[in-house]
Amino acid sequence: MAKAVIALGSNLGDRQAHLARALSFLSMLGTTHPLASSIYETEPVGDASTHPYFNAVCEVETELDAMSLLEALKAYERDYGRDPASPRWSNRTIDLDIIDYDRQVISRQRLHVPHPEYHMRLFVLVPLQEILPGWRDVRTGEPVDALITASPKIEVSKTSLKW
Ligand code: AMP
Repeated sequence: MAKAVIALGSNLGDRQAHLARALSFLSMLGTTHPLASSIYETEPVGDASTHPYFNAVCEVETELDAMSLLEALKAYERDYGRDPASPRWSNRTIDLDIIDYDRQVISRQRLHVPHPEYHMRLFVLVPLQEILPGWRDVRTGEPVDALITASPKIEVSKTSLKW
């Protein structure tokens, strides 16, 4: 079993329901032992994104290889209503990114792990620190606390919402 860390985000419609449904989808994929962060409300980043997000991070165990996991997540995003042709950073019902896959470094055309931009995204780093406080970047060895200090500052507020 591989351990994968997945970041979830939604800024359209019933954001809490979208995150909860995505977590159920992950268990339907056969992933086990989900460890989910709290749900955070965060400021939208980029001009094309206008509504605040709900974000979370979860770690799961999976028998899927990294590419199959990516395909499954992207198919779910498509089926669940996000237009793959819409600009990056635009509003989205659900966004699912692979932050880490079994502490591997993967450089494929369609998949880069660790996710190439996660270290710039406070809305990923803060929930990641909540569930895995000893986390380190597999390439650089940098601890999550240092990545948080170095990341561009945006509003990230922990909510008391339940999954
Ligand atoms: P985005 O719309 O920002 O979620 O980007 C999605 C695109 O990034 C997809 O076409 C993926 O093939 C590609 N991608 C590369 N690395 C990753 C990753 N670690 N997790 C999710 N998507 C990735």
